[in-house]
Amino acid sequence: MDTKLGAGYNPIELSKAVEKLVSVDVGGAVARKYFGFAPTRFYGGSATGYATGCNLRCVYCWSLARNARAVGDYHKPVDVARKLVGMASQNGYRFARLSGGEPTIAVEHLLQLLDHLNMFRDIWRGVFILETNGILIGYDKRLAETLSRYRFVVARVSIKGCSEEEFHTITGAEKSFFNTQIQAVKNLLDSGIETRVAITISFCKKETLAKLLERLATIDAKLVDSMEIEYVKLYPAVQKRLCKKGLAPWIAIKPPDKIVDQEKFYELCREEPQRSHSEGNS
Ligand code: SF4
Repeated sequence: MDTKLGAGYNPIELSKAVEKLVSVDVGGAVARKYFGFAPTRFYGGSATGYATGCNLRCVYCWSLARNARAVGDYHKPVDVARKLVGMASQNGYRFARLSGGEPTIAVEHLLQLLDHLNMFRDIWRGVFILETNGILIGYDKRLAETLSRYRFVVARVSIKGCSEEEFHTITGAEKSFFNTQIQAVKNLLDSGIETRVAITISFCKKETLAKLLERLATIDAKLVDSMEIEYVKLYPAVQKRLCKKGLAPWIAIKPPDKIVDQEKFYELCREEPQRSHSEGNS
């Protein structure tokens, strides 16, 4: 399928193509590919399912290779719900989430998963954090309205870049879809869903960040107060990709916790060719 649109691909078209690769209808239950399940430290502890497949291609994505190859095994919604609830109950976690890919792709899988989590409310009464890039929710507000039926869902929209141009540089997608992400925030709030915004500021300019904050504040001032600031994490595969493309973050984190400025980043890139070829993916 040709997903190109002007300068960049169309993430809506890409969503449809990816959905076919990562989901399958099994007698009415929509199974989706996952490449793992694990308890994680995020939000003070969360049960996490790693779903395969995304409608963006962020240059700093730690799961880009897995998503491109559509790795993983199919899991039915009921099985995913059981795993998340089991993990959360065992570890005393309040939160469950999907990571690794975009959870709104194969939306019927997501809705069936939420239905099952709802049925397990007598075992686990926690919160499902919908970590999303917002593209599909911004494109069609009916999705936000549908999600609002699940009172235990909180949304966290991860905005890519602080302007159309930065969005395009990071994702390679057609730049107007930057606005679709902002629209998602509005659609979610309009539907009554508690919503937060996260921004990876490593490629944002001071001016574009300021404009984005202003724009978010016009939707809801609380968005700015609760906003999460993130930095690119230089996992080996991510660093290699950024060096190859000549894209230097002004600030990044070299795991576990080393802060890297632009100058240090270029140093790391110069060291890159001497590194062992055996370094794995993130
Ligand atoms: S939206 Fe998230 S999962 Fe998708 S490519 Fe970007 S960082 Fe990766």
